[in-house]
Amino acid sequence: MTTIERPLTTAHMPPDRYRAFTLHNLESLPQLDRIPAHIVEGIRVVGQVLPFKTNSYVVNELINWDDVPHDPIFVLNFPQPDMLEPGHYALVKQALDSGNQETLDAAVETVRRALNPHPAGQMEHNVPEIYGHKLTGMQHKYRETVLFFPSNGQTCHAYCTFCFRWPQFVGDDEMKFAMRETELLVAYLQEHEEVTDLLITGGDPLVMSARNLRTYIEPVLEAKIPHLRTIRIGSKALSYWPYRFTRDKDADDLLALFREVKEAGIHLALMAHLNHPRELSTPAVEQAIARILETGAQIRTQSPLMRNINDDADTWAQMWKLQVGLGLIPYYMFLARDTGAQNYFSVPLVRATEIFRGAYTQVSGICRTVRGPSMSTDPGKIQVLGETEVDGRKLLALSFIQGRNPDWVMRPFFARLDRGATWIDELRPAFGAERFFYEDELQEMFDEDVRHLARFEESRS
Ligand SMILES: *Cc1c(COP(=O)(O)O)cnc(C)c1O
Ligand code: SF4
Repeated sequence: MTTIERPLTTAHMPPDRYRAFTLHNLESLPQLDRIPAHIVEGIRVVGQVLPFKTNSYVVNELINWDDVPHDPIFVLNFPQPDMLEPGHYALVKQALDSGNQETLDAAVETVRRALNPHPAGQMEHNVPEIYGHKLTGMQHKYRETVLFFPSNGQTCHAYCTFCFRWPQFVGDDEMKFAMRETELLVAYLQEHEEVTDLLITGGDPLVMSARNLRTYIEPVLEAKIPHLRTIRIGSKALSYWPYRFTRDKDADDLLALFREVKEAGIHLALMAHLNHPRELSTPAVEQAIARILETGAQIRTQSPLMRNINDDADTWAQMWKLQVGLGLIPYYMFLARDTGAQNYFSVPLVRATEIFRGAYTQVSGICRTVRGPSMSTDPGKIQVLGETEVDGRKLLALSFIQGRNPDWVMRPFFARLDRGATWIDELRPAFGAERFFYEDELQEMFDEDVRHLARFEESRS
């Protein structure tokens, strides 16, 4: 792919009026007749399990309808038949056809459980505490950075079909991380001098009104926490609703809030989730980017590598070049697992390194701020460096970008080469070792967590 063509807008509605399309109003999607019938059925069936939502901007400005169903942005938002394995698909379709809600709920529940909605031990192991409170809307896994999930930011302007956060959108309270207590967040930050970064994430925190977002950010600024240097906001609004920064009625208030962060002496980084160069092709996104950068905020970009969406080197090279041209800073290429539709999207590790390298070698040093491909695992973010050979043995070289123990970072280590492996747990250590170098220590950390949790439960009963 060398040029990005802007898809022709076929059906016109005012492009800046937000309108969501879900299963409930799929009939009113202007482009519905451009979607083959079996794909429409797939949306209705698979959409019971994976959350489905798109919007007027995505369908009118981003999707190339001439290329549906293969269009990457279409695949990004519209559940596809192959995203469920045939047995699961049949189960849900039959339940849906039966017209019986209870049957359908049971089928959906069965399939969701099978899809494993708890990636990488996030829920169990990284919940911080203060004053005997479990801060369930936060995670503190890497020393410098605290993740905060505001309870009002647990949705998005549209839903990515691969999203591992889907349990948050489907109303299963047990699986939600959320918290209202900014006070506890501030207290936690004050107490933890090692924390330099607060990362506000979701869902998408920018679905919130500026006023709402302010109720989270202002107390943090007012607390004047000396060790807090950076506030990051993770968001896909640049792709899914760039008018958030331009014509929404509180767009100016949002940008004013960004300025205030900057003026308080704290660096503001918008961590933009961008999956495909097409997302950078509209006048709306260009204008949004320019307005954000004017506030003094920076925009760093990250994306998972997804089969059927962006699994080729040229797409990434083009994406990074466009990003840099617009003043954005490429940050991470992620490998994804536990997406729900894992088989549909997964790319083997070795193939991922080839794509990364194929893109990295096409771009100048200015784009090479990007790191990856990276797996977010229990022990940390593991970068897959690539295939290599030592003393006649074929190996895969790896290294931590982030570690639950910071000391694990940047110590190259080796696995036996396995070209089919898609995740660290499918790899075996090289040179006959039983375990990777970090595994014993990780086990000790988990054991300590379990003992701690037991003491905690005891103290509360
Ligand atoms: C990626 C990630 C962060 C941020 O890591 P950086 O390397 O600072 O970008 C923080 N917490 C968790 C749990 C993460 O997965
Ligand atoms: S924007 Fe992010 S949180 Fe929202 S659906 Fe996509 S990946 Fe998930």
